[in-house]
Amino acid sequence: MAVEDDLAKLLRGDGPPSGRTFKDLGLSALAKRLPRVPNTLYGKWCSRCRGIWFGLVGECECPKCGNRHG
Ligand SMILES: [Zn+2]
Repeated sequence: MAVEDDLAKLLRGDGPPSGRTFKDLGLSALAKRLPRVPNTLYGKWCSRCRGIWFGLVGECECPKCGNRHG
């Protein structure tokens, strides 16, 4: 699987990988409380939702389903 590669590409700002779309799972509860500073947010892959959510470094819980294992 090249999910990590695609995710890395996405996080570098190249835009979504061609031919593939990710579900946008939104922001973590903590990220929502903070002013939007995109550079401090990290995209995290949730295998259960098959999408990406954004949170602060160190956060690992998907805001949609609570999965903590990526
Ligand atoms: Zn999830």
